[in-house]
Amino acid sequence: MPARAWQGYLSVGCCLIGGYYLVPPSGSGLMLRVVLYSLVSASATGAILIGLRRCPSPRPWLPWLLLALGQAVYAIADVIFYTAHYLFDSARFPSVADVFYLGRYPLVCVALALLIRRRTPGRDLAGLLDAGTLAVIAALLSWLFLIGPQARAQLTILVKVTTLAHPVMDLAIFAVALRLVLGQGRQSMSFFLLNVHLFAIFAADTLHGLQLLDGSYTTGNYLDAIWLAGNLALGAAALHPTVCCLDQPPRREEVQFGPVRMLALTAAGLVGPAVLLADYHRRSFGDTVATATAWAVLFLLTVLKMHRLIAEQRRLAVTDELTGLYTRRYFQSRLASEVARARRSGGDVAVLMIDVDHFKAINDRYGHPAGDRALVGIADRLRSATGAEGLLARHGGEEFALLLASAPVADLLAVCERLRCRVANRPITIAEGISVTVTVSIGAAMHPHHAGDSGELVTIADQALYRAKACGRDRSVIGRVAEAPVPHRVDGARPPGTELATALVPRRLRGAANPAPMVDFLRFAADQVDVGLSTREHSLAVARWARLLATEMGYDDDTAVQAELAGRLHDVGKIVIPPAILGKRHGLSDDEWGLLRQHPDQGAQLVGLIPGFERVAEIVRQHHERYDGTGYPARLAGTRILPEARILAVCDSWAAMRSDRPYRSALDEPAAVGELRRGRGVQYDPRVVDAFLDLHQRGRLPVNVRQRAPEFQLVVLQPPAGADGTVVEGIPGG
Ligand code: GH3
Ligand code: MG
Ligand code: MG
Repeated sequence: MPARAWQGYLSVGCCLIGGYYLVPPSGSGLMLRVVLYSLVSASATGAILIGLRRCPSPRPWLPWLLLALGQAVYAIADVIFYTAHYLFDSARFPSVADVFYLGRYPLVCVALALLIRRRTPGRDLAGLLDAGTLAVIAALLSWLFLIGPQARAQLTILVKVTTLAHPVMDLAIFAVALRLVLGQGRQSMSFFLLNVHLFAIFAADTLHGLQLLDGSYTTGNYLDAIWLAGNLALGAAALHPTVCCLDQPPRREEVQFGPVRMLALTAAGLVGPAVLLADYHRRSFGDTVATATAWAVLFLLTVLKMHRLIAEQRRLAVTDELTGLYTRRYFQSRLASEVARARRSGGDVAVLMIDVDHFKAINDRYGHPAGDRALVGIADRLRSATGAEGLLARHGGEEFALLLASAPVADLLAVCERLRCRVANRPITIAEGISVTVTVSIGAAMHPHHAGDSGELVTIADQALYRAKACGRDRSVIGRVAEAPVPHRVDGARPPGTELATALVPRRLRGAANPAPMVDFLRFAADQVDVGLSTREHSLAVARWARLLATEMGYDDDTAVQAELAGRLHDVGKIVIPPAILGKRHGLSDDEWGLLRQHPDQGAQLVGLIPGFERVAEIVRQHHERYDGTGYPARLAGTRILPEARILAVCDSWAAMRSDRPYRSALDEPAAVGELRRGRGVQYDPRVVDAFLDLHQRGRLPVNVRQRAPEFQLVVLQPPAGADGTVVEGIPGG
């Protein structure tokens, strides 16, 4: 069907209307008038049935079929009415035509209600209230000038009921049409033409009623043109190409308070006073009760709307646009009042600061919109893990805050871990076909245990968060940093006796401003362990491979250096284990086995004594974790193990397999490769195994540890006099 069919239809229709008026109302012209009128009236039904065929499935059939049926009923009424009038000169009222005229109303009402439902899927109280306001005024005017006088006229009951039914039903359709116009949905030419149809018929019906009242109505006057034009508008609406999307919601939120709408509402508000003033001027008081009632209803509707608007504005003011969580400002104000309440009446108030780990990398790699979707996903998970008892806010860019009133301090760690795990346990889809696993670090503090006021509470939670970040991220830390020397982890309890290793460190080295002697001491200790195991350059080789492998896998320099440093020091905790136990693999007693399993923690404690080596210490602690979660000391699994530790695990195993140990001789190359492959995804991160074997196949790894051990030294760079801090770097020599 041509796109301009609707214009052709309108043009032909207008010619027919012109013809209707040009035909003389006498002789055979009368018959022609009936035919022309009925043709235009019925044409809209045909136009609907034809127009809808252009829409792709599923077609919006139901509302349009009801409109077509309504129009068909209307056309039948027209045929009966105009035949009786023009051909039989009969002006009987009511007649069979009225049955059909009235039959149209419910069909149109239901059709419009369906369109409203589809165009405004959610709740639209504002549209409803505005439509109600305008409808009340229309009802008042209709009552004052049309329905009231008709109701008071001396008529038989049948005539009166039929007479009143027309304006009452017209009002009902007018109210529904207002709701349609003031609701949401796509604005289109088809929608505009449908509204022209509705308002033209309403206007002509109303004028018809008024003319009947004052006796000025004659069949064939200008009202016929309005009715016929209204019918043409319905047909054109169905033929216009936009008919297919007429029942669809808007693509974006429409502006609800345009100037026309405001003007209409203002005018509606002034109708009541205008009517009373006119009455006063005429010194004849019409229906003051009706005017006052309508005005009161209008006032109530206005108050209701104001209340709704204020509530909506308040909601927007405290809601973060992206995530739907509370804003930082609202969080701060609620925190202050909760702490004040807790001070007066006792009770705990906890604050959790939650920061996404390495979020910048997501933005950098996938773009800002994907980053936004990640933030929404994280917010959803935090919300679901928080439940109703907490107040969750977006505190900054990729930082969230949770306020928990009256949370027992004992539960705080469990709450932190629940949130942390909920975020990390499944990947978040951030773009078509792209999912990422995101982790968060959490710092928490509680009033009155850690802080006395709200500002201090946030500061301490922030410090704890900083500590969680420094210790490797994806973890929770609670309370003052001094109170939390080791990062909390529900599943990572510290084994007893870990103080043993640090006791070996000479007192003068601990806490010394210059870390160099401490580094030297640990290097020495690491070498002693290697010697004790008869694998002299084991830690040197592991360090070298770990760095190579990290670089090969695309990690940044910082990560590669951390892996190298941790490789060099990973076994330093074994310094406290007697060589007799180290040399045994089988026949270890439970106590001896327990002691051996302490070495990652012991090593972490020793390495942690070096300022700035917190992450290295954490890697050392995790280098015996297994990818399937059955390792030690914390039974971490998968990506919850630091990447450097996963790298270290493979390098360490390879070095151990390829060298003689007191309890067995070295495995040959194929056997060692087979071992790594067997542990792929079980003991080791599969990606790490693949990268390592790839390096190995390309001959980029020293084959024999003893022969090809790299020269490696830890160099401590002294800061210039007066500067704070010390930069410690690992630099491979050679
Ligand atoms: P860390 O683990 O230390 O917290 O690392 P990080 O990368 O998460 O932290 P950093 O503070 O370096 O980077 C935060 C990034 O968050 C930088 C900023 O571009 C991004 N960000 C902040 N707000 C938004 C946002 O609304 N949308 C998106 N997509 N990114 C945001
Ligand atoms: Mg941040
Ligand atoms: Mg961050």
